[in-house]
Amino acid sequence: MTDFARRWSHRIAHEGFVPLDGAGLEALLERLAGQLPDAGREVGAALVAAHLTEPSVLSETITLIGDHFEEPTAIQAAVAAGYAQALRQATMAEQEQLSRAVLDAHAGVELALRNSESRLRAIFDNAAVSIGVSTMDGRIVRVNQAFGELLGYTPDEMCALTVPQLSHPTDPPGMWRLYEEMLRGERDHVRLEKAYYRKDGTAVWTDMTSSLIRDEHGAPELTMVMLQDITDRHTLRESLQHQATHDPLTGLPNRTMIAAHLGRIFEHAQRVGLCYLDMDGFKRVNDTLGHQVGDALLVAVAQRLTDCADEPCRIAGRMSGDEFVLAVRDPSGAAEMRALAERALTALTRPYEIGRHRLRVSASIGVVDSDVAATTPAELMKAADLTLYTAKSEGRARYVMYDADRNARQAARYALAADMPDALDRDEFTVVYQPLVSLADERLRGVEALVRWRHPEQGMLSPDSFIPLAEETGVIVALGRHVLQQACAQAAEWARRFPDNRVFMSVNVTVAQAREPAFPAEVAKILADTGLDPRLLVLELTESAIMDADGAPLAALDVLAASGIRIAIDDFGTGYSNLAYLRRLPIHILKLAGPFVDGLRDPGSAGSADEQIVETIIRLAHVLGVKVTAEAVETRPQADRLRHLGCDTGQGYLFARPLPPAAMLPLLHDSGPALTAP
Ligand code: C2E
Ligand code: CA
Repeated sequence: MTDFARRWSHRIAHEGFVPLDGAGLEALLERLAGQLPDAGREVGAALVAAHLTEPSVLSETITLIGDHFEEPTAIQAAVAAGYAQALRQATMAEQEQLSRAVLDAHAGVELALRNSESRLRAIFDNAAVSIGVSTMDGRIVRVNQAFGELLGYTPDEMCALTVPQLSHPTDPPGMWRLYEEMLRGERDHVRLEKAYYRKDGTAVWTDMTSSLIRDEHGAPELTMVMLQDITDRHTLRESLQHQATHDPLTGLPNRTMIAAHLGRIFEHAQRVGLCYLDMDGFKRVNDTLGHQVGDALLVAVAQRLTDCADEPCRIAGRMSGDEFVLAVRDPSGAAEMRALAERALTALTRPYEIGRHRLRVSASIGVVDSDVAATTPAELMKAADLTLYTAKSEGRARYVMYDADRNARQAARYALAADMPDALDRDEFTVVYQPLVSLADERLRGVEALVRWRHPEQGMLSPDSFIPLAEETGVIVALGRHVLQQACAQAAEWARRFPDNRVFMSVNVTVAQAREPAFPAEVAKILADTGLDPRLLVLELTESAIMDADGAPLAALDVLAASGIRIAIDDFGTGYSNLAYLRRLPIHILKLAGPFVDGLRDPGSAGSADEQIVETIIRLAHVLGVKVTAEAVETRPQADRLRHLGCDTGQGYLFARPLPPAAMLPLLHDSGPALTAP
């Protein structure tokens, strides 16, 4: 017997009434276990066929599947669906039988009523089904033993009650109207599921059939009701319903239920409010402390959110993983939603005691407050989700209110991001080249490759508008490879055409790209394919790419440098600006960020703090054997100051803008002239 089947039969055997002996149960479950995971529906149906219909059997089975299988959700859903369907069919068959029995009994009672008092008594007392008779003005005149037992009264106590006193808050809306139609003789039967209060206040669910008894002239005379106890079935159905609409871990309404709830709000209310929450860094809790702690944390979070949803118009739900929502029907306005979001943030950031751990976590929330006429549930969710994303990118541990303009901008950004892989296939990315000159003689020494997107609708896009997106989506790796490939091919071609004026090619590389394990091999392959001399290639990396947050240097650096490629630190002065690592790492060039160069713009800046910093950096770099390139040189005084301070190379509009390859040719032809007028 498999371990799964043994645990299964063990669990089920403890679930009260089981209509099979131990061996029979084990054999059945062993067989069914063999059908999992593929035949979930059949297994669910087989449980019903074997009369394993105690409500807890299904939940035990579902739980066990959750523990046992890697990807349990689909299996659980199939088993539950098969079970529910089979049960409904079984129930329908049962109801059919009952209704036949009721009609037979009805005929019998009618007969008895007409015939003799003693005959009536006999039928009443012997009937297993609960039967009661009342007059047309609602007085209960006779009930049998079974009826009294069902509701916990003696027959005499029952006869002191009236029919309207048997109402229950869950009675279907039209029920009493049907009853009145029957009293008026307009219908002969009413049949529906109805709950009754027992004498002790608990509820009993019944399949109720009420019939009109007419006198010999056909005029309404009495009504008779027959009840079949269906509480078990009802409870099971409720629990299945609950399982389908609630998250098993936290007990909160799940995505399905929240969607249904929002649907009702949109139908019946004027305004709707939504807080879409995501725990910050939850994955870290899971990864470092384990899933059990993670689960316990989610349960605690759910509890605190439930406490925040303390008014009937508010509901808390779990969307997935560590995402939750608070939905509000008819919020009084944005202020109420702000207050709710603030309250949730405060509640969630209080420390959690979980096992022996004391945890602190924060959350980010996107908040929307809208007129229901202005949106749809799906749009509302999307807006809240996008706003949540803004809260995350603005630094987490905060809430952000929905803003239509920002939302539109973000949606446009997403569209752009989503379009990038196709744009890459359609070859919409081109590379332009900006000259780098030696400051001593202002002659061309190299170029920096800068990517552009020739967007079919939006025209030429600059990298600032799409590189950050490409980094977020990961397309940067493919895009970077494309640029490197084009730039190297271009540089190799120029080197062949202009052997006396070999200029180097400087290519930007982002963190994600540089951290790809295959990056050095890819670079080597591109160099081999294009035939570019590695000594003509410079890779520009930012400080954060060269050094991770813990100060560990990029592993690929040594491999790249060993092949003759030079490494430049891009935008120096905008990151850690830590000169210490220049000594330890194979860095060849330092590119001084624009703002430093900007500080030298004013001819009177000689001796200023900016100038002293630049001078110190240049001197230190030279001591370490590192060359310095100044970015964004726009004016003659800047170039002169930089040369004076010993800066090696310059790049900027003063010398040239980024140029398409054809516009580079005259500059490459003439190995002589300076790029600026003397
Ligand atoms: P960056 O690496 O700092 O590149 C220099 C940027 O400064 C370029 O902008 C260039 O056009 C601009 N620039 C050049 N001279 C001047 C000047 O005199 N004054 C001013 N104000 N700006 C000047 P661009 O081409 O828009 O590129 C922006 C950034 O996009 C680059 O900054 C780089 O970080 C990134 N980038 C560009 N191409 C690529 C690429 O192929 N791959 C990657 N990963 N990033 C790229
Ligand atoms: Ca650069």
